[in-house]
Amino acid sequence: MPLIGGRINTLLLLVSLFFPCVAAFPQACGSTGIAVQVLGSGGPELQDKRASTSYLIWQNGRAVIIVDSGGGSALRFGESGAQMSQPDVFLFSHFHIDHSGDFPALIFSSWFEDRKRPLPIYGPPGNQFMPSTTEFVHDLFSDPHGAWRYLSDLLQPGGNGNYQLQPHDVMAGSTPVRVFSNADMAVYAVRVHHGAFPALAYRVEIAGKRIVFSGDTNGEGDGLTHLASNADLFIAHNAVPEGATGVERNLHMPPSVIGTIAANAQVKQLVLSHRMLRTLGKENETQAEIKRHFAGPIMFANDLDCFPVK
Ligand SMILES: [Zn+2]
Repeated sequence: MPLIGGRINTLLLLVSLFFPCVAAFPQACGSTGIAVQVLGSGGPELQDKRASTSYLIWQNGRAVIIVDSGGGSALRFGESGAQMSQPDVFLFSHFHIDHSGDFPALIFSSWFEDRKRPLPIYGPPGNQFMPSTTEFVHDLFSDPHGAWRYLSDLLQPGGNGNYQLQPHDVMAGSTPVRVFSNADMAVYAVRVHHGAFPALAYRVEIAGKRIVFSGDTNGEGDGLTHLASNADLFIAHNAVPEGATGVERNLHMPPSVIGTIAANAQVKQLVLSHRMLRTLGKENETQAEIKRHFAGPIMFANDLDCFPVK
């Protein structure tokens, strides 16, 4: 592999010497068909040298769905070649900073990207620890108390903004509920357990494919298994190693739980993301534990990885 990598690097160097523009990340993911691109494959730790959680679903060259927008992912969004004029819908799994910190950066960029139609935003309701989705968006942008109220036109009906942000709180239980649909896609959610924090997992049905995002959860209950049933691609969060206990285990699912859910739901492919310092370097152990339960293909995500859904 190092030799192949070396050849590719040499080729890229030659290409960039003669064609300097080529080095500027042309959009390569999802130009035909359906693909999931990982914008951020890390968790909250900056030392993992990964952007925090964010995903794009591409359909025939258009980024149609954004899931989460953790720190660093706005840069990856630009690198992916996506435009904020493209998404039909924005989905939040929950409001920890590693899932929502770059949201304002995406929205300000949209100001310059010729978006003309509303952006529906879905996420969980609130509790004493977290705002609801509607509160979160208003806390950022509404007048007079929002942190970035200079963009409050985006929340005014008939305001002077280019378009409107349309936040919604999703009331879901363990049975999948439909939260959004248009001619091309339908989005379903279940509530998942993530410590004391309201959190959702999502299934996107698009062009006959099922793509499921676990979000952060400890895997308790059967909602996620129902949601992930027969998924073509299941993106699960590899935030804790096997044997995790206490707070970590109340927040996240270890590999054995990921493998059990993937097997029971009969998913076709498993992608592991939200990789943290406590799981990075343990890929062999993680994979071995998952394989005790799940026989399908397992892939570890890195920033900007593209997973076509065939
Ligand atoms: Zn997280």
